[in-house]
Amino acid sequence: MQIKEQLYEGKAKKVFRTDDPELLVVSYKDDATAFNGLKKGMIAGKGVINNRMSNLLMQRLEKCGIPTHFVKQLSERETVVKRVSIVPLEVIVRNIAAGSFSQRYGVKEGERLAAPTIEFSYKNDELGDPLINDHHAISLGLASADEIETIKKYAFAVNEQLKVFWAKCGVTLVDFKLEFGRLSDGTIVLADEISPDTCRFWDSSTGEKLDKDRFRRDMGGVEDAYTEIMQRLTNHL
Ligand code: UDP
Repeated sequence: MQIKEQLYEGKAKKVFRTDDPELLVVSYKDDATAFNGLKKGMIAGKGVINNRMSNLLMQRLEKCGIPTHFVKQLSERETVVKRVSIVPLEVIVRNIAAGSFSQRYGVKEGERLAAPTIEFSYKNDELGDPLINDHHAISLGLASADEIETIKKYAFAVNEQLKVFWAKCGVTLVDFKLEFGRLSDGTIVLADEISPDTCRFWDSSTGEKLDKDRFRRDMGGVEDAYTEIMQRLTNHL
């Protein structure tokens, strides 16, 4: 397989075409953004950690019957993935109240929810990724009713698998964001990444944050937190 020209550069990754029309290569950067691109910075070594973590977790999920875009890791920062058209929804699953959920509903950060919950944001930078319900998503033609059902089923299954895995690593999976895509035949697969950029990870005993909130909230120790969470994962492979 040959890597061809860059198709797209996002906030955290670059995407390249290959000589196979069904495969792309993603390259993870150290750039970090928050608040819809308002806050910009760098987290040294983040690209290497996110690439490796996302690939390891997606391989685990595949074994549990959740289809993903993962094909093969090429290098520290580069991975071959299946080409998908991204469903323009951010799919957020929560176990514990935090961030925007705490603010919106007046629930103290850290409160365990009575049951895991799910929400969608419409992926649209100009609109600031507004919260959207599944009926709106269907009415706007972002996904079909069947696709929404499949996405919900996979998202909750991902949560069950990852919650148990991270618990073994001494980490509480607070919440996370997923993105799904369609293969050329329409099959829905998990895409994008699963990393400290897209999940809230809290140390189970101390509550210490081991994720991008340290960057968003100027808490310091960002690189160390990424290194620590990666170490927890590799210790439990
Ligand atoms: N998240 C993400 N990208 C976004 C928004 C949220 O990866 O554009 C993740 C975030 O890391 C957290 C979860 O989704 O794990 C829930 O985030 P929340 O809605 O609380 O938003 P935030 O408080 O981060 O703005």
